[in-house]
Amino acid sequence: MSTLTAQLDQLRGDAPTSRHNARTIAALTANPGCARRALLDAAAVDKAAIAQALGHPPQFGQSQFAITRGNAFEAMVKATGCAELLALLRDKLELTIPEVAYHDLGTVGENAGNAVRYQRTRQLLAHAVQSGEGTMFDHPMLRLDIAGVAAYLEPDVVALQIDGQFHVVEIKSFPVVDGRADPVQVASAARQSAVYVLALRELMTDIGESPELVSHNAILVCTENFTNRPTAELVDLRKQLAVIYRQLSRLTSIPALAETLPPDATFEPGDKLAATIAAIPSRYAPECMSTCDLAFACRAEAKACGSIDVLGRGVCDDVGGIDQMDTVLGLANGTLTPGPEHADIAEKLRIAHRLRLEIAG
Ligand code: SF4
Repeated sequence: MSTLTAQLDQLRGDAPTSRHNARTIAALTANPGCARRALLDAAAVDKAAIAQALGHPPQFGQSQFAITRGNAFEAMVKATGCAELLALLRDKLELTIPEVAYHDLGTVGENAGNAVRYQRTRQLLAHAVQSGEGTMFDHPMLRLDIAGVAAYLEPDVVALQIDGQFHVVEIKSFPVVDGRADPVQVASAARQSAVYVLALRELMTDIGESPELVSHNAILVCTENFTNRPTAELVDLRKQLAVIYRQLSRLTSIPALAETLPPDATFEPGDKLAATIAAIPSRYAPECMSTCDLAFACRAEAKACGSIDVLGRGVCDDVGGIDQMDTVLGLANGTLTPGPEHADIAEKLRIAHRLRLEIAG
């Protein structure tokens, strides 16, 4: 066991666990400067349980109904060795897919462990590249390095040899109505698919093949016009791939972060938890409210210490370099005298303050 793995195991202790998935990695890239989230995710700790223990439970998440509906739709599309999916890809996207082999990698023999499934996925993909056969992989297991720690990921399907390339297939139960889908849901699905494409490209490099064998186009399968019928679209992921690749490479190194914690730090529920969390630097932004289970806890902390972060990055940029609410208010109402570096910002704040008083008064 590596030193880092042992360190993370010790930090986690008996705390409830939760593994990375494409959704959490895509969300991680929404706030790449947050050391707190990076370390909690690397230690595979359940952030929702931590937030609950800190007295700030998360207030978002998919409803049980949506989860059940999504699972039922995916099962229907993948029934009988992905027969429906194959017909859809041929008809709807006019893809020239020959007869395909089908491999379910949900388990390897009786073994459902991530490492074993990853090895089997690697082996079968290497064979598929060599043989050039059309192949569909159901529940493949991929791996992506997140700030020095391997995260296992499971795309819905990987299809091989559509014009000589592997394609990630993402199955979502939200509707496409008259050819249009909710842009927020499409963007979220595209970010998740981009994470899978990166992981698949990493695997290709690992087995000595070109990462370009993995297409930047993912296949998004959704429901059609509020029915249960599937429809499919190709989604170009080049922009998402560039953003996620850049963000992942900027994530703070986990080994360096773990080194900064005191020896008795722990994520286990108990009297040391709050101090441990407080010792890890965070970077709260309003976007956290829709992407991280700890959002209410971090917002309360940022408010309590008068941080300007609670107002969002736009405001932080506008007041360039001033990070305390008291300072901003003092400069605005004239009770503080600015240094030369803040003279222009203070001038703008005073104008805004005066206008506000005029409107209010
Ligand atoms: S809510 Fe807290 S831990 Fe999560 S990303 Fe935001 S600042 Fe980081």
